[in-house]
Amino acid sequence: MKKSHLTIAVLGCFLLFSGTFWIFYFRPAQGTPLSHLLTNNNDKGLTWQDQDVSQSGGVIMNHMGNATAKAELGRSTWKLFHTMMSRYPEQPSDDERVALAQFIHLLSRLYPCGECAEHFQTLLQKFPPQTSSRIAASQWACAIHNKVNERLGKPIFDCSDIEAKYPCGCELE
Ligand SMILES: Cc1cc2nc3c(=O)[nH]c(=O)nc-3n(C[C@H](O)[C@H](O)[C@H](O)COP(=O)(O)OP(=O)(O)OC[C@H]3O[C@@H](n4cnc5c(N)ncnc54)[C@H](O)[C@@H]3O)c2cc1C
Repeated sequence: MKKSHLTIAVLGCFLLFSGTFWIFYFRPAQGTPLSHLLTNNNDKGLTWQDQDVSQSGGVIMNHMGNATAKAELGRSTWKLFHTMMSRYPEQPSDDERVALAQFIHLLSRLYPCGECAEHFQTLLQKFPPQTSSRIAASQWACAIHNKVNERLGKPIFDCSDIEAKYPCGCELE
């Protein structure tokens, strides 16, 4: 390699590294550091690691006094819940299975009716979510809804009708 080419290469490397260094270390003094934005969530200063969802943790909301609001919330949530299961992959990846399990556990913490959430958490401990396939997940969801029905004195749903009741809406896909 010619000496002039070597000089250009060394200069190029220097500019590249010094530019990167400037972006990640000097820029913070003028505002939000880029490195901080990439690795942290600014919401209440939590890092992504802090927000790693775990399978533990208690119920967050209080008792819901308004019975009408509680029933409406329940109907809407069950609709979402069963429709989600009807579109869940037939053969989910590990990542998809973890996503569903985490969603259900977080729902049990954040469900807006606190006493419902308490009971739901107890049910989940006894009957952990089944995530291995669409059928497993939708049948599990039907069974867990029936457990809630049982407790509230409501009719038990026939889970063999679950696909007809919550169609996947996938005809045109
Ligand atoms: C996680 C969770 C926990 C709850 N805990 C409580 C609680 O502790 N106390 C309380 O008062 N309320 C609770 N609720 C609300 C309660 O389950 C009902 O949603 C609410 O009382 C309204 O009842 P509903 O008779 O309209 O029918 P819902 O139970 O809301 O059901 C809506 C429709 O779903 C269908 N369905 C019924 N059973 C099943 C099933 N097993 N699988 C699939 N579809 C079915 C029926 O067509 C029914 O009309 C909870 C709701 C949720 C989502």
